[in-house]
Amino acid sequence: MDYNYLAELLYPNIKTLPADMEARYPKRVLPEGAKVTRFAPSPTGFLHIGNLYGAFTDERLAHTSGGVFYLRIEDTDAKRTVPNGIAIIIETLAKLGVTFDEGAVIDGDKGDYGPYRQSQRAEIYQTYAKQLIREGKAYPCFCTEEELTAIRERQEAEKLTPGYYGEFAIWRDAPIEKIQEQLEKGMPFVLRFRSEGNINNKLKFKDEIKGDIDVTENDIDHVVLKSDGIPTYHFAHAVDDHLMGTTHVIRDESWLSTLPFHIQLFKALGFKMPKYCHTAQVLKLDNGNKRKISKRKDPEAALTYYHSQGYPVAAVREYLMTILNSNFEEWRLANPDAPIENFKFTTKKMSVSGSLFDLDKLNDVSKNVISRMSAEEVYGFALAWAKENDSDFASVLEADKDYAVRILSIGRGGKKPRKDIALWSEVKNYMSFFYDGLFQKQDEIPESFSKDDIKAVLADYKEIYNKNDDQNQWFGNIKAVAEKNGFCPDMKQYKASPESFKGSVADVSMFIRVAVTGRMNSPDLYEVMQILGEDRVIDRISALLA
Ligand code: GLU
Repeated sequence: MDYNYLAELLYPNIKTLPADMEARYPKRVLPEGAKVTRFAPSPTGFLHIGNLYGAFTDERLAHTSGGVFYLRIEDTDAKRTVPNGIAIIIETLAKLGVTFDEGAVIDGDKGDYGPYRQSQRAEIYQTYAKQLIREGKAYPCFCTEEELTAIRERQEAEKLTPGYYGEFAIWRDAPIEKIQEQLEKGMPFVLRFRSEGNINNKLKFKDEIKGDIDVTENDIDHVVLKSDGIPTYHFAHAVDDHLMGTTHVIRDESWLSTLPFHIQLFKALGFKMPKYCHTAQVLKLDNGNKRKISKRKDPEAALTYYHSQGYPVAAVREYLMTILNSNFEEWRLANPDAPIENFKFTTKKMSVSGSLFDLDKLNDVSKNVISRMSAEEVYGFALAWAKENDSDFASVLEADKDYAVRILSIGRGGKKPRKDIALWSEVKNYMSFFYDGLFQKQDEIPESFSKDDIKAVLADYKEIYNKNDDQNQWFGNIKAVAEKNGFCPDMKQYKASPESFKGSVADVSMFIRVAVTGRMNSPDLYEVMQILGEDRVIDRISALLA
């Protein structure tokens, strides 16, 4: 067979040669050891937590080595592409602190290795595909859907491996006359890779996360270009990662099954393979069993969830790092205040079998992260979240910034800061009792206390309360009211003989707390009352007495 002739017959419009492409995309000039990584999603409009897991890995590997992290849009499957898909990807990731050095931007490209949308690179792929044909490494296949279905059904019936190989590869050695005849009839064709692999052969492959793995050679003649001349993922990624200078491919382990084909493709194209890092699945516990986080069942599978719930970006990054690198938590304990960028991220500490994602742990991390922020910072983030999600509360926060910052300052700054808030969406409830317009009774004083006792205590307290008291005088007053009403002012004494009293000074404090905050739990009551101010304190106690 004259393969040059075949190549011209199939792709007459392609005038470029691989050498032209190599010249158009020269090798990157980067410092020794610099890693070039890419995030390569399909613009389906949905990003999964697993995508973020991969994107963080990409970003860290590139940026801890002086390399480049770029965005490539894998839009070769029109059925999976949604309008605004690219904007959704860029914006969702930016909200989680992931930005790219180069690649697709909303209305075009940034960088020298574009276009970064695969749908705009048809000529490039066809140039390499044509070269494969010239070298006898690819051939056209005119099988119809019906013929492929018949092959599949026969393979199923005979319990054979599915696919286009061996005797099923009916166009593999078709004579040129037959091919020409189909072309003349205008029949569509796909271009298939001519595999020389044998499934009885095993080879060793070094994965940067999984280590040495055994791989079985591929013997299937997979499609490289579809009938519209658009490549499959397999072919497109090989050409792109070569031309764009990717040094490390970080992708989900579900791609391992097609790795043998990718190894063949790189070899056939004469490309050096990048290093591969196949990441484990992100799992969750469901009734004690580990399972994959599912887009259908778990709201936390969607990346938009984190922004809309109001997770601080720093918390998401911090938590994801704990599941990405097994030594991160230890490092964090030793370096509580260091910026996360100082951590030496490595693929060697990544999970091989599956990374467990636990929302409760994320919430804990988030509480810690927020507890270390200044009141001003918390105010800024909470306001930004409210502006997008709760404009009424945003107006409340903006109406008196100093008041809001005072509230958020309670219990902040010391060695053991309070950890009340995990999400920006929780700030409103946390602060609401400080605002008359938002104040609502959330808890009642337990029924075990008599209404008369409660009223007597609160009436006495209202008389004795003085906004100018310092914390000692303030507590002294509560004790005095307790004693006067038969509640024990001393906790030790109370514990020794609780039956001798109606209750303790702690119960009296609780009555006051429920009266002024509407809740059984609140931050330090003295500080709360200082901030609320005399009028509100008196009004709320009076309301309970009425
Ligand atoms: N477009 C592929 C996906 O979304 C990318 C896999 C890769 O990173 O190579 O899964």
